[in-house]
Amino acid sequence: MKTIIIGAGPASLMAATHAIKNGYEVLVFEKMKTAGRKFLVAGDGGFNLTHEGSLDDFSSYYSHSQIAAIVRQFTNVDLIAWFKELGIETYVGSSGKIFPVKEVKPAFVLKTWLNFLKSQGVKFFFNATLQDFSSDEVVIKTNTVFEKHRFDHLVLGLGAASWPKTGSDTAWVSLFKSKKIEIVPFQASNAGINCLLPTEFLQKFQGEVFKNVIVSHHNARRKGEVVLTNYGVEGAPIYYLNPSIRSNISLPILIDFKPDFFENEIVEVLSNAKNISEGLNKLKIPNPIIFWFKTYLTKDNYTSTHYIAKLIKSFFIQPISFRPIEEAISCCGGVSWNELDENLRLINYPKISIVGEMIDWDAPTGGYLLQACFSTGFVATRPI
Ligand SMILES: Cc1cc2nc3c(=O)[nH]c(=O)nc-3n(C[C@H](O)[C@H](O)[C@H](O)COP(=O)(O)OP(=O)(O)OC[C@H]3O[C@@H](n4cnc5c(N)ncnc54)[C@H](O)[C@@H]3O)c2cc1C
Repeated sequence: MKTIIIGAGPASLMAATHAIKNGYEVLVFEKMKTAGRKFLVAGDGGFNLTHEGSLDDFSSYYSHSQIAAIVRQFTNVDLIAWFKELGIETYVGSSGKIFPVKEVKPAFVLKTWLNFLKSQGVKFFFNATLQDFSSDEVVIKTNTVFEKHRFDHLVLGLGAASWPKTGSDTAWVSLFKSKKIEIVPFQASNAGINCLLPTEFLQKFQGEVFKNVIVSHHNARRKGEVVLTNYGVEGAPIYYLNPSIRSNISLPILIDFKPDFFENEIVEVLSNAKNISEGLNKLKIPNPIIFWFKTYLTKDNYTSTHYIAKLIKSFFIQPISFRPIEEAISCCGGVSWNELDENLRLINYPKISIVGEMIDWDAPTGGYLLQACFSTGFVATRPI
């Protein structure tokens, strides 16, 4: 059995791992000079391979029931066990994210994995770009040469639209459309949000971090750190709100700067202070917000302890749009679930599987993205 895998991102590498374990001949073609560029970029930002949590809790983070069902077949526990087999020990961080132990760097994880695959007989070809496919043959371009390769099973893990410089540039979308395969348009996810805030305010305070705040949007709520940027806001809790913001961008983002205080307790602190300014300092309200109150509120509102307390509990920011997809950590959109069976095979091309971010699903950062990629790689190469 000859399995051809195109793309050498984490989803494809997991597919290669299981295909070779199943005794198949495995060839991996990657258009860049090296493997796993986005995996290494993810590593720079903290390198959470997965996240702790029971299966029910874990699967609730995914946008589509189909991807949640895939993750249930190769879980966070399976992933940790597999990395252990590879010699990579992991630990659970205080936030529940699961990382390789401290001394193990992302490049080491990737190198260890690639060496393992090569030792098992997986053959890698770089600077090799998928040009076309039929039901049992692919056309690969290496330099100026076009080669045809027949396959028994083809796995496509070509990535989505974010960070195109890592190789995942969605050039495959037009090829898929020409074959009448339904593609859900890509949109930025886990992205910063452009907001309606005064330019002078953003320029003055970009980079400021609001710690331990609760942000909410419609029915979504998250505690964490929000970062002010020169365009608006970003940070893990904002990423968590992305799906809600996407579905109703006219609603404001609310920030609670004192989640441990009731509104009346804030009023009490402000009322007992010499003046509002002292009260705000006692409450440790971040400087940009004190500046906001002083600069943009009327005198009557600024001196009203009730008005200020309300704003401290629900400071509203109007979102305008998402940051460009190229900057986003991930995307939603991709190959429609209507095109796939439960083994991630294309219904009209039963020898071809799709893995990773190419498929239309969404999840927050914190290990949920990589876990889903790994799980698709496993499910796609399970013997059927
Ligand atoms: C800044 C950043 C931070 C992140 N942080 C986290 C995190 O903390 N936790 C988490 O879980 N996830 C994180 N991620 C997401 C994670 O990196 C992705 O989910 C994962 O890399 C997607 O894997 P993939 O295999 O589907 O695609 P990719 O990793 O994009 O790999 C696709 C591969 O296919 C190749 N390719 C494309 N087209 C062709 C073609 N025509 N022919 C041949 N090869 C082709 C590409 O060159 C690429 O190597 C982060 C991502 C970014 C950008």
